[in-house]
Amino acid sequence: MKIHEYQGKEILRKYGVAVPRGKVAFSVDEAVSAAKELGGNVWVVKAQIHAGGRGKGGGVKVAKSIDEVKQYASQILGMQLVTHQTGPEGKKVKRLLIEEGANIAKEMYVCVLLDRARSMNVVMVSTEGGMEIEKVAEETPEKIIKEHVDPSVGFQAFQARKLAFALGLSGDAFKNAVKFLTALYKAYEATDASLFEINPLVITKEGNVLALDAKVNFDDNALYRHPEYAELRDLDEEEPLEIEASKSNLNYIKLDGNVGCMVNGAGLAMATMDIIKLAGGEPANFLDVGGGANATTVANGFKIILADKNVKAILINIFGGIVRCDRVANGVVEAAKVVDVKIPIVVRLAGTNADIAADILKNSGMSFLVAENLSDAAEKVTSALAA
Ligand code: ADP
Ligand code: MG
Repeated sequence: MKIHEYQGKEILRKYGVAVPRGKVAFSVDEAVSAAKELGGNVWVVKAQIHAGGRGKGGGVKVAKSIDEVKQYASQILGMQLVTHQTGPEGKKVKRLLIEEGANIAKEMYVCVLLDRARSMNVVMVSTEGGMEIEKVAEETPEKIIKEHVDPSVGFQAFQARKLAFALGLSGDAFKNAVKFLTALYKAYEATDASLFEINPLVITKEGNVLALDAKVNFDDNALYRHPEYAELRDLDEEEPLEIEASKSNLNYIKLDGNVGCMVNGAGLAMATMDIIKLAGGEPANFLDVGGGANATTVANGFKIILADKNVKAILINIFGGIVRCDRVANGVVEAAKVVDVKIPIVVRLAGTNADIAADILKNSGMSFLVAENLSDAAEKVTSALAA
């Protein structure tokens, strides 16, 4: 689960991680009164969307007067903000963060995340902050310094010092960085986060260390331990079809291709996507209907796939282990009746009651293309696209 920068910063602040003072605003008037309440003479007006690269896209502006706050707030609120993470259609800005301006001496980088290969959390820092870290990782990987955290002992003070030293800090900035990193890691563990990315982490001219940006993602599997996070969810920022799918307990991820896939089991779903690609097609989604799928789940999955306007053909690939193939076939037929399908549907059903399922499809009065095996299915669906 993703949250907005301002929400992430509120959480960080609670755990003693230094962040600039700021306030959320949903209108220009709120932005102006937020700036007045914050006081000072430099404010930053920041678009709140679930994507990075806002600065380059014109979604972050430094204001030197209340008039400028007003001007930038009216400019940014309601704009369609395009960044390298939003896709070409961009994201409509509905919230702003009005924040006190920091006196930046140096922009750096820090993140905490799970290193799956090592089964440990890792804290990474770099002096190359403010820019795309992927580029740093690619071109100058030696500029990213990592400390893995042994789960049996946790993040150690010497590791925080090692990282602060690697950032080239000394004096107050060094001490503040150690404090910052220690608090940041504590917050990461306590909130069951899956990613904390602070880019930039800034050292101010006064020697303070501050999180100027905050990308906070939570581990969905741990959300039940944090019911209070439910209110942080912003459905405006999520893919409508994915929201619909999660209501039906379907694991659905929308992708950019045109072959809709309905599969049971995540492994088989991945294999199906691979084989579609191998046959020259592009999957429109990942959809795992789950091991215990019934006719209703299948029907819901089918409707969700069809709601994606890019889908030009569908591949249903089900292995009847726990779920019986005849149930799946019934679900498909039921859903197809309601939705009025105009695109080719290739079906590959194997396992329990596959023969009964084949009869159900054949007698449905609809024209399904029946595939013998996985590669046949992929070929049939890609050639159906070309036809
Ligand atoms: P994004 O990563 O989406 O572009 P950031 O929050 O990192 O957004 O902001 C982009 C840039 O704007 C930062 O690298 C920093 O230079 C500047 N900036 C952001 N917030 C502040 C602030 N409170 N004070 C001063 N400069 C800021
Ligand atoms: Mg940033």
